[in-house]
Amino acid sequence: MKNLLILVLIPFLLLAGCSHKGKSQPKAVKGVLDLQDWNFEQDGIINLDGEWEFYWKEFPVGESLELPEDKKDFIQVPRAWNGHIVRRTTDTGGVNEEVLSGEGYATYRLKVLLKEGMDLGIRVPDVDTSYELYVNKIKIISSGKIGTSAENSIPEISIYYRYFSNPQNEIDILITITNFKTTNSGIVKSIEFGKSNTINKLSYLNISRDLFISGILFIMGIYHISLYGLNRINSSPLYFGIFCLLLLVRTLIKGEIFLQTLLLDLTFSWNYTIEYCALYIGLPVFIAFLYSLFPNDMNKNINQVINNISLILVFFVLFSSPLYFTKTLTFFQLLILFSIIYAIYIIIKAISQEREGSKIFLSGFIIFSISMINDILQENNIINTDHYAPAGLVAFIFFQSYLLSSRFSKAFTDAKEARRNAEEQKQLVQTAKEEIERLNRTKDEFLANLSHEIKTPLVTIYGYSEMITLEEDLPESTKEYGREIYKSAGHLNSYMDDVLLVTDLETNLQLDKKPILFSDLLKDSLHTLEPLLQEKNIIPEVYDPTCITINCDSLLFGRALSNLLKNGIVYNRTGGTLKIRAEKTEKDIQFSIVDSGIGIPSEYHGKIFEKFFRIDSSLSYEISGVGLGLFLAKKILDLHGGSIAVHSEVGKGSEFLVLLPFS
Ligand code: ADP
Repeated sequence: MKNLLILVLIPFLLLAGCSHKGKSQPKAVKGVLDLQDWNFEQDGIINLDGEWEFYWKEFPVGESLELPEDKKDFIQVPRAWNGHIVRRTTDTGGVNEEVLSGEGYATYRLKVLLKEGMDLGIRVPDVDTSYELYVNKIKIISSGKIGTSAENSIPEISIYYRYFSNPQNEIDILITITNFKTTNSGIVKSIEFGKSNTINKLSYLNISRDLFISGILFIMGIYHISLYGLNRINSSPLYFGIFCLLLLVRTLIKGEIFLQTLLLDLTFSWNYTIEYCALYIGLPVFIAFLYSLFPNDMNKNINQVINNISLILVFFVLFSSPLYFTKTLTFFQLLILFSIIYAIYIIIKAISQEREGSKIFLSGFIIFSISMINDILQENNIINTDHYAPAGLVAFIFFQSYLLSSRFSKAFTDAKEARRNAEEQKQLVQTAKEEIERLNRTKDEFLANLSHEIKTPLVTIYGYSEMITLEEDLPESTKEYGREIYKSAGHLNSYMDDVLLVTDLETNLQLDKKPILFSDLLKDSLHTLEPLLQEKNIIPEVYDPTCITINCDSLLFGRALSNLLKNGIVYNRTGGTLKIRAEKTEKDIQFSIVDSGIGIPSEYHGKIFEKFFRIDSSLSYEISGVGLGLFLAKKILDLHGGSIAVHSEVGKGSEFLVLLPFS
């Protein structure tokens, strides 16, 4: 913040340094400005302000530029002649009073008294709207063409610097002015006067100042609009960029460089139209900029009113002539003053809400507002100071750019931080995934080892329990226990086989493929499942019209088929149907196993093929299993290059469809 203040103060001091207000300046009295005590070397430039001779509707005649003594009047400079009262004696001896409007023509005259003769210079600001300036009866400026009516005069708008040698200690300055084009007429801004080298220096300083400001406005405008173009998260840079470009247009048109003399041959009207449009559009753009920064603190209705008034004024400027639309300036200046107060209120509100950047905004805005208010008051001759708006503007632009840059840099840092967090999260997820995989492997290994260990005693239990069931001498109740043990040991044995097969399949088991009739495989599987089929009173219906041969590892493929068939029986209702269909298409062999059982809810269709997944329902809970049947079936089919899909509806049954390529 400290560095920023230094940065801002440098151009501000530089631009404000163009000021030449120092010692209090003498004013003209009754058409005479006594500068005999004015030291041009030390005191610098002086404004030719004060009471000038004024001849309403009179132009000088002849080479000696004679003006009628009886028409002589006095008027304050700088000030528009609008509202000035001209008193003329009528032929009947009465007094005729005329309150002047903007339209008309007149001659101004001033006698300047000097201590000695010297080389002098003069800067004449834009005088509305055409004039000729004579120094010691020699015409040195001719801006546009003066005349006595709108038809015989041609308007022009320019700033002139002129240099001349004056050997005497008295100068006669005479200005003839015509205006039929704009509202305010006469010498409305001070004419600056001094030694030729000082005026020359002033011209360089003024042009450099305008070029400096134009450069800043241009770069800031383009930079912020591009910033918005590249990253459209926030519209503040867009409004700020447009605001800078509008100010640039106004600086070029109003300022010392004069766009139309350098670049374009703008007509007088266009010059005014562009200048006023840039000004009148600038306010709503500024309000939009403020809104984009502090949306929660602004009153949308007030914004709308300011926007609507500005828009109406823009239309008025576009569709009327400078004579009418220049009249709206004072009203618009009041609107600007209102907007400044409104903006300061908003910023103070934003500061109290601790909104980001509100203090920076206020600092820049206060400097800008003070300079603007100073210039408005000065232009309306309420105070006599210098022109500070350009310096205020530069300060404002610096502060706003700093604000936008800091917002962008914060967004950038946030994005970087978010990316780093995401990166860290990704790393954590990756580590967790690896850990889960490792634990999974450990679990599988543990299960495989356990199964191995269990299988040895299990085989013994299996064998002995079978022997008990076959022993004739034993009582029937003991044989019944034997049968139960034999059945349970069989279940356990098949689970152990499943667990062992999982490990085998996951460690890249080699397939032993041979061609085999599907009907043979099916027969074997159904034979093993015969007790279950009987228990459920299900008679399988087989459709195998072409007697299909498949190339597979018969042991594994038979296992997959058995698992699917077993599910079709155990999850079926008693007396339900079980249809097995085998078909050959052009590309592959298709098998489908359709049951009329409990069905599978659609949300589980993708999950049932996962390892150890069982549907947690009251029905399936009663049926023993470990959730490996479908996982193994899918794994085996994958190894054969095939696929499996399920279609099922709860309460109606399920269809498992297997596709196997020919190869
Ligand atoms: P399980 O050992 O539990 O039978 P599976 O992997 O064979 O394991 O099946 C997973 C789950 O899918 C089962 O728990 C069951 O809920 C459901 N399921 C499988 N086949 C069928 C079917 N034909 N009808 C209804 N549900 C089924």
